[in-house]
Amino acid sequence: MLQDLEQLVQLQGLDAEISVLEGAIATIPDQIRMMEQQLIQAKAALDATTAEVDTLQKLRRQKERDLDEAGRELKKRQGRLFEIKTNQEYTATLKEVEGLKQKISMLEEEILVTLDAIDGAVKIRVQEEEKVRVTQAEFLKNKQEREAELHKLQGRLAIVRKTRDSRSGRVEASLLQLYLRLLKSRDGLAVANATGRSCEGCHVTLTPQLYNEVRRNEAIRTCEGCGRILYWKG
Ligand SMILES: [Zn+2]
Repeated sequence: MLQDLEQLVQLQGLDAEISVLEGAIATIPDQIRMMEQQLIQAKAALDATTAEVDTLQKLRRQKERDLDEAGRELKKRQGRLFEIKTNQEYTATLKEVEGLKQKISMLEEEILVTLDAIDGAVKIRVQEEEKVRVTQAEFLKNKQEREAELHKLQGRLAIVRKTRDSRSGRVEASLLQLYLRLLKSRDGLAVANATGRSCEGCHVTLTPQLYNEVRRNEAIRTCEGCGRILYWKG
């Protein structure tokens, strides 16, 4: 094979690998962010439930204070019933006593309902705490794996780039310019295999004359369809 063509084929192989490596490297931060998102969501759910438990506890304490207060008021009224002189006042106080008894039974019922709600929320919180623990451990493990993979890919990329740079120095300057222009404008494929009688890049069928020339791999020939440099992979 022509020396220049041989160099370009190898350069193309290295550039293709660089492109794959760069693509793989670029996806890793997104993968880590997506995994972290699950952890953030699990923590947010736990925070919301913790806040709900807190609110319910405050509500329970308020209702218990109201209950104590109503109990004291009731005792006061009941004590007064024996000291009252007029019928009118007696009836009014008795009405207040009945009202307070109703209020007390209502508060007792509401406290029970609140305690049930607290129980339910605490159970959910226990599950969510476990989920945060599991998600966190998974995230850290996966993140470490992804970062190790990233490190590996970056190491390989550095080696391939170095090889590529030293090889590109061996290609004649104007040919290298053509190659680089094609690499940029033809979606990363500047040197196309034409073994199947058609251009690997644009799939146009080669004329018999061009095919015969390409088959010899002795000159730089370009595709009539896309302009890519053609070679024959024998
Ligand atoms: Zn072509």
